[in-house]
Amino acid sequence: MKRAFAPLLLLTLLLTSCGSQAGPEPVSATEPVTGTVFAMDTVMDFTIYGEETLLAAAESRIHALEAKLSVTEESSEIYAINHNGSGHVSADTADLLDQALALCGQTGGALDLSIYPVVRAWGFTTGDYGVPETEELAELLAHVDYTKIDFDRKQSAVTLPPDMEIDLGSVAKGYTGDQILSLLREADVTSALLNLGGNVQALGSKPDGSPWRIGVQNPLGDGYIGVLEVTDQAVITSGGYERYFVEDGETYWHIIDPATGAPTHSGLISVTIIGGSGLMCDGLSTALFVMGLEDAAQFWRETGNFEAVFVTEDGQITITEGLTDRFSLADESPFDEVAVLYQE
Ligand code: FAD
Ligand code: MG
Repeated sequence: MKRAFAPLLLLTLLLTSCGSQAGPEPVSATEPVTGTVFAMDTVMDFTIYGEETLLAAAESRIHALEAKLSVTEESSEIYAINHNGSGHVSADTADLLDQALALCGQTGGALDLSIYPVVRAWGFTTGDYGVPETEELAELLAHVDYTKIDFDRKQSAVTLPPDMEIDLGSVAKGYTGDQILSLLREADVTSALLNLGGNVQALGSKPDGSPWRIGVQNPLGDGYIGVLEVTDQAVITSGGYERYFVEDGETYWHIIDPATGAPTHSGLISVTIIGGSGLMCDGLSTALFVMGLEDAAQFWRETGNFEAVFVTEDGQITITEGLTDRFSLADESPFDEVAVLYQE
């Protein structure tokens, strides 16, 4: 029998006050401005050590990106491409597509932007949940292949083969976080924390110079399994407990294995990626969830520009070598052991 997962929306907890080091009150450590935006079907929280006007600037940037990238909004660039089979895209969409397609290749298709018709057939993004017929899935899967997305970078033009549709949902929030951090850097902000529904992105450290402390949510229930200390990095989690439905006692979640067209059952129930780029971490959290622990470990050894926390359905936490002094088990963690992956 499948375990019933708690319907938690937020993956991470900002432990901004716990464990901060004692020290002199720094000049820049005034009260931060904080704000919440609901966009991309996600609650987004901001903590910015800077001018209040930056909140409005961030919000308008997010809404502008959503208007271009949404698969369901009829006026979006992605909607137009999906319904016309081709189209020109803005610099944002071109930039995101370019980097996302590179990640599809790098992950050997575990990340595949053309999986969208399959995702929709299961009811994700429409809310009309249900297990599709085998024949329907086979028909849809025949058109899933990111290598057939024709993207002309120079012309910013995209052409899709017949019956293919694309979705940037696996990477767009990471890209959005990167864009907001750029906007803040340009305004000379040196300390900020964004939480885009489980995608946490830190700009610099806390104003007192200590790292941000980010909780990693327990994928099996309430609370947190551990705490990560990060400076100027993204911490992005994909889990099977975020968006799912239950039918006949079975849980079906929103991350699909492009090899089968079904919700992935790789043995992993959560993957957190820590690295410099939000887009990369977002794409890899989805892709490594699909790969499973063994292939993900191999991928990490070969790629090496990120760190990861994996949780398996049999209750094992595995962290990569670079996190050994940055990850600690939370007090309430149901886990009491952490395995470490080493570069061989
Ligand atoms: P991630 O692991 O980052 O991504 C999982 C998502 O990627 C899945 O939901 C699926 O869409 C896709 N996916 C699944 N498997 C694969 C795979 N193997 N390769 C590539 N992609 C895969 N949701 C709504 O319900 N209503 C909305 O109005 C809505 N608007 C949105 C607008 C925008 C601009 C964006 C970016 C998203 C929107 N969403 C909406 C989608 C919602 O926010 C997604 O659930 C979210 O993007 C997925 O992110 P995640 O962090 O939950 O999971
Ligand atoms: Mg992702």
